[in-house]
Amino acid sequence: MGKMIVAGGGMCGMAAAMMLADDGHEVVVVERDPEPPPPDLEDAFSGWDRRSVAQFGQAHFLLARGTQILKHRVPAAYRLLTEHGGFRLNLVEFLLSSQPGAAPDPDDERFELVTGRRSTLEWAMATAAHRHPGVTVQRGDAIAGLTTGDPKSDGVPHVTGVRLQSGREIPSDIVIDATGRRSATPDWIADIGGKAPFEEAEDSGFAYYGRYFRSKDGSVPPMIGPALAPYGTFSVLTLPADNGTWSVSLYGLSDDKELRRFRDPDVHERVVRACPLHAHWLDGEPISDMISMAGVVDRHRRFVVDGTPCATGLLTVGDASSCTNPSLGRGISLGLMHVELLRREIAEHADDPVELALAYDDATESELRPYHDATTTLDRRRVAEMRALLAGDERDPDPAAQLGNLLAAASTLDPTCARAYGEIFHLFALPSAVFERPGMLEHVLSISDRVSTDPLPGPDRRQLLELVS
Ligand SMILES: Cc1cc2nc3c(=O)[nH]c(=O)nc-3n(C[C@H](O)[C@H](O)[C@H](O)COP(=O)(O)OP(=O)(O)OC[C@H]3O[C@@H](n4cnc5c(N)ncnc54)[C@H](O)[C@@H]3O)c2cc1C
Repeated sequence: MGKMIVAGGGMCGMAAAMMLADDGHEVVVVERDPEPPPPDLEDAFSGWDRRSVAQFGQAHFLLARGTQILKHRVPAAYRLLTEHGGFRLNLVEFLLSSQPGAAPDPDDERFELVTGRRSTLEWAMATAAHRHPGVTVQRGDAIAGLTTGDPKSDGVPHVTGVRLQSGREIPSDIVIDATGRRSATPDWIADIGGKAPFEEAEDSGFAYYGRYFRSKDGSVPPMIGPALAPYGTFSVLTLPADNGTWSVSLYGLSDDKELRRFRDPDVHERVVRACPLHAHWLDGEPISDMISMAGVVDRHRRFVVDGTPCATGLLTVGDASSCTNPSLGRGISLGLMHVELLRREIAEHADDPVELALAYDDATESELRPYHDATTTLDRRRVAEMRALLAGDERDPDPAAQLGNLLAAASTLDPTCARAYGEIFHLFALPSAVFERPGMLEHVLSISDRVSTDPLPGPDRRQLLELVS
């Protein structure tokens, strides 16, 4: 068993630390922000200083795939979340409940999710990590670079630990970079003479404007419209969270200048009130300011280039490796899926740093990357649709998009479609794998005459511009 350093104690870093400690490793988490999770989760919402996580105040939702990983691999964090007011939902059971004669089967348990405000999710994860045997969390000193030793492969630097801003060095067998979207790993690798990682990155093109609300009685508004609802050139996101709280966000194209007025709480309210299926989500007390965020990048990095690792003894996980824009609420779940791969590959190859780097890259590309690509495909499709509407063109005729919309609509009427939709939405299966199942495409199409894929009732572009003016 080895000594591991996890760089960054966010959602994925803490999850990785606990899983690796469960496998017998000695784990030190090095986190830049000095403040540990406060004892009370409401203080985590109102006052926990997490300045290094730009999205800390933003709306968050944990999908069922992420919840299942938490439940089975990080049970202490799952328990904290469920025992402290986490919001439970089983989307498939919810859809089946309005379908005459449909009944859940035991396998539908996997669609059960527990979610909360970002601060609550992170509070549960960090609190569990601080208490976890085999995990030491060291806060308030950032990692500034890597230390190296004898190479394990010609021309490839081998990482033997980290150097902190204070100048202190900590040795380790493996360094795991979980420093999030703004990870400096490519610079750290350059500093030790490694090859530059391969990187694909593009601004997702969206700008988000959201705030949190709370009810007086601990309830959350009923879901009578989809949680993620496209309304022409903007979308509404209504996400239930813990302890009678929820978030309401609007997002549009970041270069759609008129929509920047969503940042004004009165404008935000006027627009949401004009959407009949979502207006009731405003019926609570606002508990946060309006928080906006743009320039959210979709990025994928690869640390094996032309068959050679950029460095050995260093693995990158979560947002530091691969991040997507948040419209589909996938980031944490994808990150936790990645942590599972990391754990598996370390268990199999910990004694051979070169083999470990290659096998982890291979697993990331074959098992995680397809989900990343499926997510960015949906982003691009939505951006194209918004741009086409702004330009006054016909709506996006992309057949894959139409099929996706049809499946979403059919999920409210048919159990097979409800489960297929649940699998795609909650990251249990790729859309391509679902539609390749024998008879699935025909089944979905057979329901098409019973469902409506008409736009949701709400403001058109002209009305929207009046609302924001
Ligand atoms: C606006 C927005 C909304 C989102 N909504 C959702 C959602 O609804 N659902 C969802 O699943 N995902 C969502 N995401 C994505 C989600 O926030 C990320 O996927 C998730 O936080 C990634 O976890 P991580 O541990 O990889 O990185 P982070 O959570 O960013 O953690 C990185 C950690 O590294 C630390 N750190 C950084 N540099 C150093 C250093 N040099 N030394 C030491 N420590 C360092 C930071 O302090 C931080 O604690 C959203 C993202 C955005 C931008």
